[in-house]
Amino acid sequence: MLLLFLVFFLSVFSESTCVYEKTMAEQGLVEVQQAIPGILVELKYATTDNFMHKNVYGCLQKAYLQKEVVARLKKAQAYLSASHPGYHFLIYDATRPLSKQWDLWNALPQYPPKVRSNYVADPAEHSIHNYGSAVDLTVADEKGRPLEMGTPFDFFGEMAYPSREKELLASGKLAPKFYQNRLILRQAMVHGGFMPILYEWWHFNAFSRLEAKRRFSVLR
Ligand SMILES: [Zn+2]
Repeated sequence: MLLLFLVFFLSVFSESTCVYEKTMAEQGLVEVQQAIPGILVELKYATTDNFMHKNVYGCLQKAYLQKEVVARLKKAQAYLSASHPGYHFLIYDATRPLSKQWDLWNALPQYPPKVRSNYVADPAEHSIHNYGSAVDLTVADEKGRPLEMGTPFDFFGEMAYPSREKELLASGKLAPKFYQNRLILRQAMVHGGFMPILYEWWHFNAFSRLEAKRRFSVLR
């Protein structure tokens, strides 16, 4: 009887505990929604609404980041709330286990590795996401609707490049409103201490890859 109870208890426990989330918590990473009230999370790779059209994250549904990274995000969210009351960040991706990095990499065989690494970091080199030090996100309005940014998340092409925004704006390809929305996101994130990158308006690093490798261990 006791054994039966134990088996039942263990099966219930294992169903409600995701191995990835458990590992992250054990390695000292912080669950973002617990730490920052009002922040929104929809991990796109845990849904079918992504470029692979399948759930590659499985049970991983929550956003985890390193403690220092969450502190920066909290500062950025406070800035966003002060400059645009009612606006909240909406997180699309946070810490990404290395095994999932391979899934993303292998899902883009149409791009040769050199081009592919503009969109997905080479798993052999590791992504800053694998160290819990990068976050993909947008801004949502008071009703939780994501602001228009000119492209969806994970759009592979120059319309998503922050490095090309001025040109795209001048040629009329990027609407001024969408550019302004990107600035709302970027200004808040930079204020919090994050670094934008050249190719994705939604991606921000808290540390360089070198610094992240020095400070933290990779999530596998
Ligand atoms: Zn990213």
